[in-house]
Amino acid sequence: MLLHMASCENSARNVEMVNANGLGRGRQAVLYSPGKLEMREVELPKPKAGELLIEVKCALSCGTDLKTYKRGHPLFPTPTPLGHEFSGIVAQAGPGVDKFKIGDAIVAVPSAPCMTCFFCWRGQENLCRQVVEHIVMGAYADYLLLPAHVVARHTFKKPSDVSFEVAALLEPLSCVFHAQEMAQVQSFETVLILGAGPLGLLHLSALKARGARRVVVAGRRANRLRAAAEFGADDVIDVEREEVEAVACRLNSGFGPDVVIEATGQVAGWEQALRLVRRGGRVVFFGGCPSGTSVALDTRRMHYDNLTLLAPFHYRPRDVAAALAALQEHALPGVERIIDSRRRLAELAEVFALLERGELLKCAIVP
Ligand SMILES: [Zn+2]
Ligand SMILES: [Zn+2]
Repeated sequence: MLLHMASCENSARNVEMVNANGLGRGRQAVLYSPGKLEMREVELPKPKAGELLIEVKCALSCGTDLKTYKRGHPLFPTPTPLGHEFSGIVAQAGPGVDKFKIGDAIVAVPSAPCMTCFFCWRGQENLCRQVVEHIVMGAYADYLLLPAHVVARHTFKKPSDVSFEVAALLEPLSCVFHAQEMAQVQSFETVLILGAGPLGLLHLSALKARGARRVVVAGRRANRLRAAAEFGADDVIDVEREEVEAVACRLNSGFGPDVVIEATGQVAGWEQALRLVRRGGRVVFFGGCPSGTSVALDTRRMHYDNLTLLAPFHYRPRDVAAALAALQEHALPGVERIIDSRRRLAELAEVFALLERGELLKCAIVP
């Protein structure tokens, strides 16, 4: 993992220091072991060829960070910096960077494919090894160093009328666009989304923009279900009061949903998605389950009901481009409401506690 970052008590002063001598210090949140987060003062790295040092303007909380915080993550051994959904301002550019200059507002996703490997050649850039092995973590900080491959392929000027907060949604939105490109939801179709967390709601927003006929969201917690209704869900199912099965089987005049998007990341959710989809329908397993888990398939149903199972992982350059265009065109009305709280970097541990209790959707962490 190639992530460095840094930051400082006084950002303005820090930028001056950076600009003056390429050095300075900044804060960086580091996870030392599950649940043990510390704010560390680090030297600001001087960007090498192709790299950018950015001043973080906003980093968003994400379920992946919460999972890593709670139980560790096989891809991010501790000690590890955290935070991978971000936007910022170029503080210093390494030699050879000509797309950006100091002061440019930028948004980026934290990974980029090599474009030359087996998977990249087949258009499955999301499976490129470079994507996970060299992912940028560490946006919970004052400064973040972007590696050359991310700068070259997946860093963009922030559209001027899109806020830093909304721009930082580019990463989760790219995952959502990837999944929806695979699912190819048509304008006459009914979709059931299992899970009303930030990703379930991003799916809802993107499906509405796409013109799906009917979108139903099943989830828990009043604040999330209210958000789903505000985002334009045609129906909302509170799973603590209603049987999802009972509602789902009435959809499409009793045939059931054409597409089920699983966005809970729980084995029970995966199994439920398989049961709820109509004959001939598609299941999108979007939420990753804990490793080592498995799901039993009813082979008879799979075959005679002609199910299509999709399990999109991460995103490809074309998904990032589509997500950026949607943000630029304001094609996802209300999407900014997914970010329902704001905290300072120093309050990060409190943010994780709130996320754990399900009290927040997404928090904007501002240095
Ligand atoms: Zn994320
Ligand atoms: Zn590759």
